[in-house]
Amino acid sequence: MSDKNNYDAIVIGAGMSGGWVAKELCEAGIKTLLLERGPEVKHITDYPTATKQPWEFEHRNKISEKVKDENPSIARCYAYREDNAHFFVKDTDHPYVQDKPFDWIRGYQVGGKSLMWARQTQRWSDYDFEGPARDGFAVDWPIRYNDLAPWYSKVERFVGIAGNKDGVDTIPDGEFLPAWEMNCVENYFSEFVKKSYKDRQVVFGRCAHLSEPQDIHRQQGRGTCMSRQECERGCPLGGYFSANSSTIPWAAKTGNLTLRPDAVVQSIIYDEEKGKATGVKIIDTETKETTEYFASVIFLNAGAINSVGLLLNSTSNRFSDGLGNDSGTLGKYVAFHNYRAKINAIHEGHSNKAYVGGVPTTAYIPRFRNVYQQETDFLRGYASGFRASRYKSTTPSQGWGQELTDSIVNATRTYKGPWQVGSHMMGATIPKESNYIKLSDTEKDEWGMPLIRISMDYDDNDEKMIADYFEQLTDMFTKAGFVDIKTRDTKQAPGLDIHEMGGIRMGRDPKTSMLNANNQLHACSNVYVTDGACMTSTSTQNPSLTYMAFAARAANHAVDQLNKDLI
Ligand SMILES: Cc1cc2nc3c(=O)[nH]c(=O)nc-3n(C[C@H](O)[C@H](O)[C@H](O)COP(=O)(O)OP(=O)(O)OC[C@H]3O[C@@H](n4cnc5c(N)ncnc54)[C@H](O)[C@@H]3O)c2cc1C
Repeated sequence: MSDKNNYDAIVIGAGMSGGWVAKELCEAGIKTLLLERGPEVKHITDYPTATKQPWEFEHRNKISEKVKDENPSIARCYAYREDNAHFFVKDTDHPYVQDKPFDWIRGYQVGGKSLMWARQTQRWSDYDFEGPARDGFAVDWPIRYNDLAPWYSKVERFVGIAGNKDGVDTIPDGEFLPAWEMNCVENYFSEFVKKSYKDRQVVFGRCAHLSEPQDIHRQQGRGTCMSRQECERGCPLGGYFSANSSTIPWAAKTGNLTLRPDAVVQSIIYDEEKGKATGVKIIDTETKETTEYFASVIFLNAGAINSVGLLLNSTSNRFSDGLGNDSGTLGKYVAFHNYRAKINAIHEGHSNKAYVGGVPTTAYIPRFRNVYQQETDFLRGYASGFRASRYKSTTPSQGWGQELTDSIVNATRTYKGPWQVGSHMMGATIPKESNYIKLSDTEKDEWGMPLIRISMDYDDNDEKMIADYFEQLTDMFTKAGFVDIKTRDTKQAPGLDIHEMGGIRMGRDPKTSMLNANNQLHACSNVYVTDGACMTSTSTQNPSLTYMAFAARAANHAVDQLNKDLI
């Protein structure tokens, strides 16, 4: 197609999952329009803080109390700091309605949240994909692990995942670069758990960092991760994966990509006669002009909650309750990860051991509850992070002049304080019809889109899981000899896990789900959804690797369909 508003494919959202769709489509020769509501963020040149020193930040990299007061939701996010604040959406800039408390963390820019993510990348397994059918909740996934396994491999090879082949059933091994190493206390705990528990392991979290770049990474212009620990500013080395450093420039190199930032997609256009979607309507954030773009196939990758909002806002005579919503499940069965529980303790051993610098990942305890059979009074289970670090010297600085300087330098270089160990729970939640995303009937945003309403909550299953996590981790910590063990339920609202999922779920039956096994809307097959909205259940693993695998798989399905003139 040649007309400037006509393309073969349109991808809505230039973030983690949309970047993958664009890459796959463009490589296959598909003329692709990638639409993004936020501004362009070019790799390297648009990372304004990447090489700044701590003293160059007005508030020494802290968020001011004024900004915190004005933006209570993002201020609660652990990663929100002065050095990366420009990548986070302020609560005040894009309001939404919290029917129940929900801290919605967003990144509206080219690259989406792939710029600020924590890069943890464990695969899902059949213990996850078979979960709903086995335990009788949600609906059965229309795919199994084997359907996704080759796509996980493809994504891992391109992204670059550092990790060990641990041979753990619940987090299948993948295509890994060399792993970083645990420190001595993490190693001690890992060995201890292996010896003491038949059902548990402590491994090192697989992460999207280039420990040893391969040819495919060098072709992307990316280099070795130097463990700078400043990832969320954007990495000028391309040491971690983001859509900005990897998939989007790769797609652009093919000559088949048109990237259109500052374009808020309002709705997908449905043609009743043709019985399919024909394009999208956007509003330009600078000029406020409305434009329509047309394509044979449309991918929805706006991030789970916004993707739901977009389908709900895409109404027609045929679909009065939102595009593809014959089942009435659009916006329902949304879920998240339960990150409320934490445990900390002191380790008095290894006092003669220290470490230098940091690594870009932490130890990880894969799910061990209810894996092979139901063994507790709650469904599913939790994975846990584990980290050991040593306090810096607790000796106060002394003296004046050179003596003071020496004492400060000495204090910042030596780790004489005790080892602190800690863990946080990453619990699966059960998708429920009562958890929903809707559109407001009364309030609109500045682009004329109805405000999104969010209602998600914990339930009895989550409370029981938290109690079990405290019991099991306390047992593991006590037996390992840790002391001064303290558990903490943060009681935080859903959202800070930043793993919102569901609302346009996959399923076998069009009467109870929105998407088929290839991520196409059952009722409008030239629309694909491959972000978190497609997820039928939540598992315990961080989900983005799985979104990327779904995105690559569905994009290749679409290429096949386009080549055969089937859509
Ligand atoms: C601090 C932090 C830590 C995280 N850590 C991890 C981790 O360790 N592991 C993990 O797996 N995940 C992690 N995540 C989550 C991860 O970032 C998301 O799962 C992932 O980015 C989702 O990809 P996406 O494509 O669905 O959404 P995004 O990456 O958010 O991209 C969506 C894009 O769509 C655009 N958009 C939205 N609405 C519209 C519209 N109407 N029109 C046009 N464009 C639109 C947005 O501006 C955005 O650019 C973390 C996230 C954060 C913020």
